Amino acid sequence: MKLLSQESKDNQEDQKPCIILDPGHGGKDPGTLWGEVYEKDVNLAITKKLEQILVGQGYQVIMTRDEDERVVLKERVQIAQENQGDLFVSIHQNALENDTVTEGMEIYSSKTSGSEDLAEYIWDSLLSKTGAKDKGISKNSDLFVLDHTTMPACLIETGFITSSRERELLLDEEYQQKIAQGIAEGITKFLES
Ligand SMILES: [Zn+2]
Repeated sequence: MKLLSQESKDNQEDQKPCIILDPGHGGKDPGTLWGEVYEKDVNLAITKKLEQILVGQGYQVIMTRDEDERVVLKERVQIAQENQGDLFVSIHQNALENDTVTEGMEIYSSKTSGSEDLAEYIWDSLLSKTGAKDKGISKNSDLFVLDHTTMPACLIETGFITSSRERELLLDEEYQQKIAQGIAEGITKFLES
């Protein structure tokens, strides 16, 4: 009896959705930057907060990197595919040359079925949690990690590191937490839909 109930508990745990989180860049690849503010660090800080929320909600979470190391795009896709993730979310920051004013968030969804819904759920909660400017959803994106994963997938540019105002926010732990909460809420709504 004991064995059986333990077994059924394990089975239930196995069925928890597996979420792949992908903090962009890392190591020798800083991503976009402004002075000593590197995209790779902002990506990791936000993604770690997101990981914590989702793990707290009982989801299985796999990070393509959890420290400052370089992981090539092919390897990120491999991690998502080999772990048979149920969905894939990549976190990035935006930048513009000679422009310190443009700000806001962008989201890209892949061609895989379900990706558009995932992006829309995340978008709704992310924008309402942060109050960030809506720079739009780009559907059917062929960005490498989106084009090569087979689960619902999206990539979020959570702000402009080149914007004086937004950069301050992106470096602020409370704002990072709001971003993480917004994305987590969207993921949960998508998984429950
Ligand atoms: Zn990036």
